[in-house]
Amino acid sequence: MDKTGYYGTFGGAFIPEILSTTLEQLQLGFQEVKEDPAFWSTYQSLMSTYSCRPTPLTYAENLSRHFGGPQIYLKREDLNHTGAHKLNNVMGQGLLVQRMGKTRVIAETGAGQHGVATATMAAKFGYSCTIYMGEVDVARQRPNVFWMEQLGATVVPVRDGARILKDAINEALRDWSTNMDTTHYVLGTACGPHPYPEMVSYFQSIIGTEVREQILRQSGRAPTRVYACVGGGSNALGIFSGFLDDAEVELVGVEAGGQGLETHKHASRLASGHGSVGVAQGYKTYFLQDDDGQMLETHSVAAGLDYIGVSPILSAYHEEGRIRFEAATDEEVLEATRLVMRKEGIIPALESAHALAGAFREAPEMNGDGVVVINLSGRGDKDIFTIADALGDTAWKSFITTKAEEYRA
Ligand SMILES: *Cc1c(COP(=O)(O)O)cnc(C)c1O
Repeated sequence: MDKTGYYGTFGGAFIPEILSTTLEQLQLGFQEVKEDPAFWSTYQSLMSTYSCRPTPLTYAENLSRHFGGPQIYLKREDLNHTGAHKLNNVMGQGLLVQRMGKTRVIAETGAGQHGVATATMAAKFGYSCTIYMGEVDVARQRPNVFWMEQLGATVVPVRDGARILKDAINEALRDWSTNMDTTHYVLGTACGPHPYPEMVSYFQSIIGTEVREQILRQSGRAPTRVYACVGGGSNALGIFSGFLDDAEVELVGVEAGGQGLETHKHASRLASGHGSVGVAQGYKTYFLQDDDGQMLETHSVAAGLDYIGVSPILSAYHEEGRIRFEAATDEEVLEATRLVMRKEGIIPALESAHALAGAFREAPEMNGDGVVVINLSGRGDKDIFTIADALGDTAWKSFITTKAEEYRA
C-alpha cells in the first residue's frame, strides 16, 4: 500500500470534501495504535476475555476420511461472541474510538449481522449507537432489528432509493458528515475509503496470526491450501494474512456463485470475469456494474456475500495472481452445509459454507499428504429459515407460520 491508500491501482479515498479532515484524523489515529505494541495486547486480551480468542482450529477427521485426500482443518470463527468474525473488527474499532475520545458510533447494515456486532460493541464501551438499515432489509431481518434495539441502539430505516444496503451507506455518510466531532463510522468490511480496508484487515489479521501457529503445532507443517469465503473480503484477508509470505501456500477466495455464473444471478466480481473496475462508495475496485457504471443486482443464498464491490486489497492480489478466486453456487453451498452438519456436528453460516464448498470440490483430487485449512467465518443458526426452506422442510415451515400466528393473536 502507498501513502494515499492505493493497493496497485485499487483503493484510494473518493469522499465528499467535508469528510476529508475526519478521514485524515482517523488515518492518524489508526497509524498511532498500529505502532503501539500496548494497543495490540489490550486488543488481544479484550478478545480473549470477551470473545473466546484464540478460536480453536478443529481437525475435521470424518470429513478428511470422507474425501480420502488431504487433512482438513476448520478455523472456528463461528465460536466468536455474536457468532462470526465480525466482532474482531468491531471491537478493534471500539478501542480506537475510545482513544480518539469520541462518544457515538454509527454503522450501516444489510443482513443485520454487522449492526448487531456494532450494537454489542457500543453497549460494552458505553457509546451511543445509531444503525442505518434499508427499509426493505428492516422488514426482512426482524430478529436482528429486535436485538439491535434491545442492545440499546437506534435503528433508522432508510426510505431512499431501493431501500437496501447501498442507500443505508449513503445515509450513514450523511450523518457522519454532520456529526464528525463526536461520531465514528464503524465500517463492517475491508472496503470503503482509505484507511478502512487497511484498518479492518489489520484487526482481522488476528485470525491469520493464530491459525499459522495452530496449524504448525497441530499438523506439523504449513497448509497446502487455505480457503475463505469472500463478501467484502474481511475474513479472507484475515486468515490469508498468516500465509501471504509463504509462496508455497495456495490461497483460495470463494465468492457467491448464486444460481450459476452463466445466469448472471450471482455476486462474483472476480472469479466470474463479469466485474469491471470503477469507483463507488468511496473507493476504486472491481464492481458488478453495467457499461454506464450502474450497479447491477446481485444474488446469493448468503446475505453476507451479496455485495457489488470487493476489497481493493483483494483486487490487487487477484491481478498479481497471489490469490485464486472461485465461485460456489447456492446448490453446492447447501450440499456442503448438510455434509458438515452430518459429518462434524457443526452448523456453518451459509457464507462460510462457500469456503467449504470450494474446498470440497477440489479435495478429492488433492494428494493425501496435503493439508487444507478452511475459515469457518460464522455459525449458521441465523440461517435457519433459509436452510429449512432450501432443504424443503415443509413441516418446519408450517410450525413457524403457526407460531407467528399465535404470537400475533
Ligand atoms: C458478513 C459475513 C461474511 C462476509 O464478510 P467478509 O467481509 O467478506 O468476511 C462472511 N461470513 C459471515 C459469517 C459473515 O457474517
